Amino acid sequence: MPLIVQKYGGSSVADAERIINVAKRIGAVQKSGAAVVVVVSAMGDTTDELIELAHTISHEPHAREMDLLLSTGELVSSTLLTMALRELGHEAISLSGPQAGIRTDTSFGRARISRIEPARVRRELDAGRIVVVAGFQGITAEDDITTLGRGGSDTTAVAIAAALQADRCEIYTDVEGIYTADPRIVSGARKIDEVGYEEMLELASLGAKMHPRSIELGGVYRVPIYVASSFSDTPGTLIHAVGNGPADAFAAGLPTAAKPEPEHITAISPSAEFQTGNQMEDRIKVTGIAYNANVAKITVQSVPDRPGLAAALFEPLAEASISVDTIVQNTGGDKSTDISFTVSRTDLPAAVRLVEGMAQQLGAAGVVSSAGLAAVSIVGSGMQNTPGYASRMFRLLANGGVNIDMITTSEIRISCIIDESQGRDAVRLLHEGFQLDRS
Ligand code: ASP
Ligand code: MG
Repeated sequence: MPLIVQKYGGSSVADAERIINVAKRIGAVQKSGAAVVVVVSAMGDTTDELIELAHTISHEPHAREMDLLLSTGELVSSTLLTMALRELGHEAISLSGPQAGIRTDTSFGRARISRIEPARVRRELDAGRIVVVAGFQGITAEDDITTLGRGGSDTTAVAIAAALQADRCEIYTDVEGIYTADPRIVSGARKIDEVGYEEMLELASLGAKMHPRSIELGGVYRVPIYVASSFSDTPGTLIHAVGNGPADAFAAGLPTAAKPEPEHITAISPSAEFQTGNQMEDRIKVTGIAYNANVAKITVQSVPDRPGLAAALFEPLAEASISVDTIVQNTGGDKSTDISFTVSRTDLPAAVRLVEGMAQQLGAAGVVSSAGLAAVSIVGSGMQNTPGYASRMFRLLANGGVNIDMITTSEIRISCIIDESQGRDAVRLLHEGFQLDRS
Protein backbone atom coordinates (compact mmCIF):
# COMPACT_ATOMS: atom_id res chain seq x y z
CA MET A 1 0.00 0.00 0.00
CA PRO A 2 1.51 3.37 -0.96
CA LEU A 3 2.10 5.81 1.89
CA ILE A 4 1.52 9.48 1.15
CA VAL A 5 2.25 12.44 3.42
CA GLN A 6 0.14 15.49 2.60
CA LYS A 7 0.66 18.96 4.05
CA TYR A 8 -2.00 21.67 3.96
CA GLY A 9 -0.96 25.29 4.50
CA GLY A 10 -2.76 27.90 6.58
CA SER A 11 -4.88 29.34 3.76
CA SER A 12 -6.09 25.83 2.83
CA VAL A 13 -7.58 25.37 6.32
CA ALA A 14 -8.47 29.03 7.00
CA ASP A 15 -12.13 28.39 7.92
CA ALA A 16 -14.58 25.57 8.61
CA GLU A 17 -15.69 25.32 5.00
CA ARG A 18 -12.12 24.95 3.76
CA ILE A 19 -11.33 22.40 6.46
CA ILE A 20 -14.29 20.29 5.31
CA ASN A 21 -13.11 20.64 1.71
CA VAL A 22 -9.62 19.47 2.62
CA ALA A 23 -11.12 16.56 4.55
CA LYS A 24 -12.96 15.48 1.39
CA ARG A 25 -9.73 15.56 -0.62
CA ILE A 26 -7.93 13.50 2.01
CA GLY A 27 -10.79 10.99 2.18
CA ALA A 28 -10.59 10.49 -1.59
CA VAL A 29 -6.88 9.71 -1.39
CA GLN A 30 -7.46 7.08 1.28
CA LYS A 31 -10.33 5.59 -0.74
CA SER A 32 -7.93 5.23 -3.69
CA GLY A 33 -5.98 2.75 -1.56
CA ALA A 34 -3.20 4.79 0.05
CA ALA A 35 -2.22 5.19 3.68
CA VAL A 36 -2.28 8.90 4.50
CA VAL A 37 -0.48 11.07 7.03
CA VAL A 38 -1.59 14.71 6.98
CA VAL A 39 0.41 17.63 8.37
CA VAL A 40 -1.37 20.95 8.89
CA SER A 41 -0.40 24.57 9.49
CA ALA A 42 -2.42 26.84 11.75
CA MET A 43 -5.66 28.28 10.35
CA GLY A 44 -5.16 31.41 8.22
CA ASP A 45 -3.25 34.15 10.05
CA THR A 46 -3.49 32.47 13.46
CA THR A 47 0.27 32.46 14.07
CA ASP A 48 0.59 36.18 13.26
CA GLU A 49 -2.33 36.93 15.55
CA LEU A 50 -0.83 34.94 18.43
CA ILE A 51 2.49 36.76 18.02
CA GLU A 52 0.71 40.11 18.05
CA LEU A 53 -1.29 39.12 21.11
CA ALA A 54 1.88 38.10 22.95
CA HIS A 55 3.41 41.48 22.19
CA THR A 56 0.45 43.31 23.68
CA ILE A 57 1.29 41.53 26.96
CA SER A 58 5.08 41.57 26.88
CA HIS A 59 7.70 43.63 25.04
CA GLU A 60 9.98 40.65 24.73
CA PRO A 61 7.88 37.53 25.21
CA HIS A 62 9.69 34.71 26.96
CA ALA A 63 10.99 32.32 24.31
CA ARG A 64 9.74 29.11 25.89
CA GLU A 65 6.27 30.52 26.55
CA MET A 66 6.12 31.95 23.03
CA ASP A 67 6.75 28.54 21.45
CA LEU A 68 4.17 26.82 23.64
CA LEU A 69 1.70 29.58 22.72
CA LEU A 70 2.39 29.34 18.96
CA SER A 71 2.12 25.55 19.00
CA THR A 72 -1.57 25.90 19.90
CA GLY A 73 -2.40 27.21 16.41
CA GLU A 74 -1.59 23.87 14.81
CA LEU A 75 -3.43 21.97 17.56
CA VAL A 76 -6.62 23.82 16.63
CA SER A 77 -6.35 23.05 12.91
CA SER A 78 -5.30 19.41 13.34
CA THR A 79 -8.10 18.54 15.76
CA LEU A 80 -10.77 20.33 13.69
CA LEU A 81 -9.60 18.61 10.50
CA THR A 82 -9.74 15.25 12.28
CA MET A 83 -13.31 15.96 13.42
CA ALA A 84 -14.22 16.82 9.82
CA LEU A 85 -12.73 13.52 8.61
CA ARG A 86 -14.68 11.61 11.23
CA GLU A 87 -17.90 13.42 10.26
CA LEU A 88 -17.30 12.14 6.73
CA GLY A 89 -17.05 8.62 8.10
CA HIS A 90 -13.27 8.17 8.06
CA GLU A 91 -11.20 6.66 10.84
CA ALA A 92 -8.85 9.49 11.80
CA ILE A 93 -6.79 10.66 14.75
CA SER A 94 -4.88 13.87 15.45
CA LEU A 95 -1.44 13.91 17.06
CA SER A 96 0.53 16.86 18.37
CA GLY A 97 4.15 17.10 17.21
CA PRO A 98 5.40 15.49 20.46
CA GLN A 99 2.82 12.68 20.19
CA ALA A 100 4.03 12.08 16.65
CA GLY A 101 7.55 11.61 18.04
CA ILE A 102 9.12 14.79 16.69
CA ARG A 103 12.21 15.54 18.79
CA THR A 104 14.08 18.81 18.45
CA ASP A 105 17.02 20.72 19.86
CA THR A 106 16.39 23.52 22.35
CA SER A 107 16.50 26.59 20.07
CA PHE A 108 13.08 28.08 20.75
CA GLY A 109 11.59 29.78 17.71
CA ARG A 110 13.90 28.05 15.25
CA ALA A 111 14.32 24.53 16.59
CA ARG A 112 15.82 21.86 14.37
CA ILE A 113 14.48 18.32 14.28
CA SER A 114 16.99 15.95 15.86
CA ARG A 115 15.06 12.75 15.24
CA ILE A 116 11.60 11.30 14.76
CA GLU A 117 10.26 8.28 16.62
CA PRO A 118 7.51 7.16 14.30
CA ALA A 119 6.17 4.20 16.35
CA ARG A 120 2.87 5.85 17.33
CA VAL A 121 2.17 7.13 13.81
CA ARG A 122 2.91 3.66 12.43
CA ARG A 123 0.57 2.03 14.93
CA GLU A 124 -2.29 4.35 13.96
CA LEU A 125 -1.66 3.77 10.25
CA ASP A 126 -1.63 0.01 10.83
CA ALA A 127 -5.01 0.37 12.53
CA GLY A 128 -6.30 1.88 9.27
CA ARG A 129 -6.48 5.47 10.50
CA ILE A 130 -5.69 8.71 8.76
CA VAL A 131 -3.12 10.41 10.99
CA VAL A 132 -3.31 14.20 11.25
CA VAL A 133 -0.14 15.72 12.71
CA ALA A 134 0.15 19.29 14.00
CA GLY A 135 2.95 20.86 11.97
CA PHE A 136 5.67 23.33 13.01
CA GLN A 137 6.28 21.84 16.49
CA GLY A 138 8.31 19.31 18.41
CA ILE A 139 9.61 18.57 21.89
CA THR A 140 13.06 18.77 23.47
CA ALA A 141 14.79 16.14 25.58
CA GLU A 142 13.63 18.19 28.61
CA ASP A 143 9.97 18.00 27.48
CA ASP A 144 9.67 21.61 26.40
CA ILE A 145 7.59 22.36 23.30
CA THR A 146 9.48 24.07 20.48
CA THR A 147 8.55 25.52 17.10
CA LEU A 148 10.61 25.11 13.93
CA GLY A 149 10.55 28.69 12.64
CA ARG A 150 7.96 30.50 10.49
CA GLY A 151 6.61 28.30 7.72
CA GLY A 152 8.07 25.24 9.44
CA SER A 153 5.15 22.88 8.75
CA ASP A 154 6.70 22.07 5.36
CA THR A 155 9.73 20.79 7.23
CA THR A 156 7.54 18.71 9.57
CA ALA A 157 5.89 17.11 6.54
CA VAL A 158 9.09 16.24 4.69
CA ALA A 159 10.76 14.98 7.89
CA ILE A 160 7.82 12.66 8.62
CA ALA A 161 7.84 11.45 5.01
CA ALA A 162 11.56 10.68 5.34
CA ALA A 163 11.12 8.91 8.71
CA LEU A 164 8.25 6.76 7.41
CA GLN A 165 9.92 6.24 4.03
CA ALA A 166 6.75 7.49 2.42
CA ASP A 167 6.34 7.25 -1.33
CA ARG A 168 6.08 10.99 -1.58
CA CYS A 169 5.28 14.20 0.26
CA GLU A 170 2.60 16.45 -1.20
CA ILE A 171 2.53 20.12 -0.19
CA TYR A 172 -0.84 21.79 -0.81
CA THR A 173 -0.97 25.56 -0.81
CA ASP A 174 -2.81 28.48 -2.42
CA VAL A 175 -0.62 28.71 -5.55
CA GLU A 176 -0.33 26.08 -8.24
CA GLY A 177 3.37 25.32 -7.93
CA ILE A 178 6.81 26.76 -8.64
CA TYR A 179 7.25 29.27 -11.45
CA THR A 180 10.05 30.42 -13.78
CA ALA A 181 9.83 33.84 -12.06
CA ASP A 182 7.59 35.51 -9.51
CA PRO A 183 4.21 35.59 -11.33
CA ARG A 184 3.44 38.94 -9.66
CA ILE A 185 6.43 40.48 -11.47
CA VAL A 186 6.46 38.59 -14.78
CA SER A 187 3.08 38.05 -16.39
CA GLY A 188 4.51 35.38 -18.71
CA ALA A 189 5.99 33.30 -15.87
CA ARG A 190 5.39 29.59 -16.51
CA LYS A 191 4.78 26.85 -14.01
CA ILE A 192 7.70 24.41 -13.82
CA ASP A 193 6.67 20.72 -14.11
CA GLU A 194 9.68 19.34 -12.29
CA VAL A 195 12.81 20.68 -10.65
CA GLY A 196 15.83 19.29 -8.75
CA TYR A 197 16.34 19.92 -5.02
CA GLU A 198 19.36 22.20 -5.49
CA GLU A 199 17.65 24.35 -8.06
CA MET A 200 14.54 24.48 -5.91
CA LEU A 201 16.58 25.78 -2.98
CA GLU A 202 17.66 28.69 -5.15
CA LEU A 203 14.13 29.19 -6.47
CA ALA A 204 12.34 28.78 -3.15
CA SER A 205 10.73 32.21 -3.46
CA LEU A 206 9.03 31.67 -6.82
CA GLY A 207 5.33 30.96 -6.58
CA ALA A 208 4.79 28.59 -3.68
CA LYS A 209 7.04 29.77 -0.89
CA MET A 210 8.52 26.75 0.77
CA HIS A 211 10.46 26.46 4.01
CA PRO A 212 14.03 26.04 2.69
CA ARG A 213 14.89 23.41 5.30
CA SER A 214 12.17 21.16 3.88
CA ILE A 215 13.91 21.19 0.50
CA GLU A 216 17.28 20.41 2.08
CA LEU A 217 15.75 17.49 3.98
CA GLY A 218 14.00 16.27 0.85
CA GLY A 219 17.31 16.31 -1.00
CA VAL A 220 19.23 14.48 1.73
CA TYR A 221 16.59 11.75 2.19
CA ARG A 222 15.49 11.73 -1.46
CA VAL A 223 11.85 12.44 -0.66
CA PRO A 224 9.95 13.41 -3.83
CA ILE A 225 7.99 16.58 -3.02
CA TYR A 226 4.96 17.52 -5.05
CA VAL A 227 3.74 21.13 -4.69
CA ALA A 228 0.23 22.01 -5.87
CA SER A 229 -2.89 23.99 -5.05
CA SER A 230 -5.46 22.67 -2.59
CA PHE A 231 -8.10 24.75 -4.36
CA SER A 232 -7.91 23.03 -7.76
CA ASP A 233 -6.81 19.84 -9.45
CA THR A 234 -4.36 21.62 -11.73
CA PRO A 235 -1.05 19.71 -11.90
CA GLY A 236 1.69 21.29 -9.78
CA THR A 237 5.48 21.01 -9.57
CA LEU A 238 7.46 17.87 -8.68
CA ILE A 239 10.70 18.45 -6.77
CA HIS A 240 12.89 15.38 -7.02
CA ALA A 241 16.25 14.03 -8.15
CA VAL A 242 15.91 15.18 -11.74
CA GLY A 243 17.33 12.96 -14.45
CA ASN A 244 18.19 10.08 -12.14
CA GLY A 245 15.98 7.38 -13.58
CA PRO A 246 13.57 6.50 -10.77
CA ALA A 247 11.80 9.81 -11.36
CA ASP A 248 8.93 8.16 -13.20
CA ALA A 249 8.35 5.67 -10.44
CA PHE A 250 8.20 8.50 -7.91
CA ALA A 251 5.79 10.42 -10.08
CA ALA A 252 3.43 7.47 -10.53
CA GLY A 253 -0.03 8.37 -9.36
CA LEU A 254 0.38 12.12 -9.78
CA PRO A 255 -1.75 14.08 -12.24
CA THR A 256 -0.32 13.44 -15.70
CA ALA A 257 1.24 16.79 -16.51
CA ALA A 258 3.50 16.44 -13.49
CA LYS A 259 5.14 13.40 -15.03
CA PRO A 260 8.22 14.70 -16.80
CA GLU A 261 8.09 14.62 -20.55
CA PRO A 262 11.35 13.38 -22.09
CA GLU A 263 11.68 16.70 -23.89
CA HIS A 264 11.57 18.62 -20.66
CA ILE A 265 14.13 16.44 -18.92
CA THR A 266 16.47 17.27 -21.78
CA ALA A 267 16.11 20.91 -20.99
CA ILE A 268 17.41 20.67 -17.46
CA SER A 269 19.39 17.44 -17.23
CA PRO A 270 23.04 17.76 -18.21
CA SER A 271 23.35 14.01 -18.81
CA ALA A 272 20.63 14.08 -21.44
CA GLU A 273 22.40 16.72 -23.49
CA PHE A 274 24.32 14.26 -25.58
CA GLN A 275 21.15 12.89 -27.10
CA THR A 276 20.06 16.19 -28.48
CA GLY A 277 22.70 16.58 -31.18
CA ASN A 278 22.84 19.91 -32.92
CA GLN A 279 20.16 21.47 -30.83
CA MET A 280 22.34 21.23 -27.78
CA GLU A 281 23.44 24.83 -27.87
CA ASP A 282 19.93 26.10 -28.36
CA ARG A 283 18.67 24.44 -25.22
CA ILE A 284 17.29 26.60 -22.49
CA LYS A 285 19.31 25.68 -19.45
CA VAL A 286 18.12 28.43 -17.17
CA THR A 287 15.27 27.08 -15.05
CA GLY A 288 14.12 30.29 -13.41
CA ILE A 289 14.88 33.85 -12.35
CA ALA A 290 15.14 34.33 -8.59
CA TYR A 291 14.65 37.75 -7.06
CA ASN A 292 15.33 39.13 -3.60
CA ALA A 293 14.51 42.77 -2.94
CA ASN A 294 15.68 42.78 0.66
CA VAL A 295 19.43 43.39 0.14
CA ALA A 296 21.78 45.83 1.86
CA LYS A 297 25.51 46.29 1.32
CA ILE A 298 28.34 47.19 3.68
CA THR A 299 31.82 48.21 2.50
CA VAL A 300 34.83 48.34 4.79
CA GLN A 301 37.27 50.73 3.11
CA SER A 302 41.03 50.30 2.87
CA VAL A 303 41.80 47.86 5.62
CA PRO A 304 45.50 46.96 6.00
CA ASP A 305 45.81 43.60 4.23
CA ARG A 306 46.98 40.77 6.48
CA PRO A 307 45.95 37.22 7.46
CA GLY A 308 42.96 37.01 9.78
CA LEU A 309 41.29 40.12 8.49
CA ALA A 310 38.18 38.52 7.04
CA ALA A 311 37.87 36.17 9.99
CA ALA A 312 37.97 39.09 12.43
CA LEU A 313 35.28 40.95 10.50
CA PHE A 314 32.86 38.09 9.96
CA GLU A 315 33.10 36.20 13.26
CA PRO A 316 31.09 38.80 15.23
CA LEU A 317 28.40 38.71 12.54
CA ALA A 318 28.16 34.92 12.74
CA GLU A 319 27.94 35.12 16.53
CA ALA A 320 25.03 37.53 16.16
CA SER A 321 23.33 35.07 13.74
CA ILE A 322 23.54 37.59 10.89
CA SER A 323 23.96 35.75 7.66
CA VAL A 324 26.25 37.30 5.10
CA ASP A 325 25.62 36.64 1.46
CA THR A 326 27.71 38.02 -1.40
CA ILE A 327 31.28 38.86 -0.32
CA VAL A 328 33.76 40.68 -2.54
CA GLN A 329 37.34 41.42 -1.50
CA ASN A 330 39.83 43.07 -3.77
CA THR A 331 43.39 43.97 -2.88
CA GLY A 332 44.90 46.99 -4.57
CA GLY A 333 48.61 47.73 -5.04
CA ASP A 334 49.00 49.59 -1.77
CA LYS A 335 48.73 46.66 0.67
CA SER A 336 45.25 47.62 1.69
CA THR A 337 41.96 46.09 0.69
CA ASP A 338 38.26 46.94 0.38
CA ILE A 339 35.77 44.31 1.57
CA SER A 340 32.13 44.57 0.51
CA PHE A 341 29.37 42.18 1.47
CA THR A 342 25.60 41.98 1.57
CA VAL A 343 23.20 41.24 4.41
CA SER A 344 19.42 41.33 4.54
CA ARG A 345 18.04 44.84 4.96
CA THR A 346 16.53 43.99 8.33
CA ASP A 347 19.98 42.99 9.64
CA LEU A 348 21.72 46.15 8.37
CA PRO A 349 21.66 48.35 11.50
CA ALA A 350 22.99 45.58 13.75
CA ALA A 351 25.60 44.54 11.17
CA VAL A 352 26.88 48.10 10.72
CA ARG A 353 27.28 48.50 14.49
CA LEU A 354 29.34 45.28 14.77
CA VAL A 355 31.44 46.02 11.69
CA GLU A 356 32.20 49.63 12.69
CA GLY A 357 33.62 48.45 16.00
CA MET A 358 35.80 45.87 14.31
CA ALA A 359 36.87 48.13 11.42
CA GLN A 360 38.29 50.66 13.84
CA GLN A 361 40.38 47.99 15.60
CA LEU A 362 41.66 46.76 12.24
CA GLY A 363 42.70 50.25 11.13
CA ALA A 364 40.23 50.61 8.26
CA ALA A 365 39.61 54.01 6.66
CA GLY A 366 35.86 53.77 7.14
CA VAL A 367 32.61 51.87 6.74
CA VAL A 368 29.87 52.79 4.27
CA SER A 369 26.55 51.10 3.73
CA SER A 370 23.53 51.27 1.46
CA ALA A 371 20.12 49.69 1.87
CA GLY A 372 18.24 49.95 -1.42
CA LEU A 373 19.65 46.96 -3.30
CA ALA A 374 18.27 43.76 -4.76
CA ALA A 375 19.67 40.45 -5.98
CA VAL A 376 18.56 39.03 -9.29
CA SER A 377 19.75 35.54 -10.22
CA ILE A 378 19.55 33.09 -13.07
CA VAL A 379 19.27 29.51 -11.77
CA GLY A 380 19.71 26.23 -13.59
CA SER A 381 21.65 23.01 -13.08
CA GLY A 382 22.10 22.84 -16.83
CA MET A 383 24.41 25.87 -16.72
CA GLN A 384 27.09 24.02 -14.79
CA ASN A 385 29.39 23.10 -17.61
CA THR A 386 28.36 25.58 -20.22
CA PRO A 387 30.20 28.87 -20.61
CA GLY A 388 28.42 31.97 -21.82
CA TYR A 389 25.56 32.27 -19.36
CA ALA A 390 27.24 34.94 -17.29
CA SER A 391 28.16 37.11 -20.26
CA ARG A 392 24.68 36.72 -21.72
CA MET A 393 23.15 37.79 -18.42
CA PHE A 394 25.42 40.85 -18.20
CA ARG A 395 24.65 41.81 -21.81
CA LEU A 396 20.89 41.56 -21.22
CA LEU A 397 21.18 43.76 -18.14
CA ALA A 398 23.45 46.23 -19.95
CA ASN A 399 21.02 46.53 -22.86
CA GLY A 400 18.31 47.35 -20.34
CA GLY A 401 20.46 50.07 -18.74
CA VAL A 402 20.81 48.15 -15.48
CA ASN A 403 24.04 48.79 -13.57
CA ILE A 404 25.60 45.80 -11.78
CA ASP A 405 27.03 46.49 -8.35
CA MET A 406 28.34 43.05 -7.35
CA ILE A 407 28.41 39.59 -8.92
CA THR A 408 28.54 36.11 -7.40
CA THR A 409 28.25 32.67 -8.86
CA SER A 410 27.68 29.13 -7.68
CA GLU A 411 27.60 26.03 -9.88
CA ILE A 412 23.93 26.48 -10.61
CA ARG A 413 23.37 30.20 -10.04
CA ILE A 414 24.68 33.57 -11.22
CA SER A 415 23.56 36.53 -9.10
CA CYS A 416 23.90 40.24 -9.69
CA ILE A 417 23.38 42.83 -6.99
CA ILE A 418 21.65 45.84 -8.56
CA ASP A 419 19.69 48.88 -7.49
CA GLU A 420 16.26 47.88 -6.19
CA SER A 421 14.54 50.50 -8.34
CA GLN A 422 15.58 48.49 -11.40
CA GLY A 423 14.94 45.07 -9.85
CA ARG A 424 11.56 44.18 -11.29
CA ASP A 425 12.57 45.36 -14.76
CA ALA A 426 15.73 43.25 -14.53
CA VAL A 427 13.68 40.15 -13.69
CA ARG A 428 11.47 40.76 -16.73
CA LEU A 429 14.47 41.42 -19.00
CA LEU A 430 16.16 38.19 -17.99
CA HIS A 431 12.96 36.13 -18.14
CA GLU A 432 12.45 37.30 -21.70
CA GLY A 433 16.12 37.21 -22.69
CA PHE A 434 16.53 33.59 -21.62
CA GLN A 435 13.21 32.77 -23.30
CA LEU A 436 11.60 31.35 -20.18
CA ASP A 437 8.20 32.46 -21.41
CA ARG A 438 8.46 29.83 -24.14
CA SER A 439 8.39 26.15 -23.16
N1 ASP B 1 1.83 28.38 11.41
C1 ASP B 1 3.25 28.54 11.28
C2 ASP B 1 3.54 29.86 10.58
O1 ASP B 1 2.63 30.58 10.18
C3 ASP B 1 3.89 27.39 10.57
C4 ASP B 1 3.48 27.19 9.14
O2 ASP B 1 2.58 27.85 8.64
O3 ASP B 1 4.08 26.34 8.46
O4 ASP B 1 4.69 30.21 10.43
MG1 MG C 1 1.64 29.64 7.74
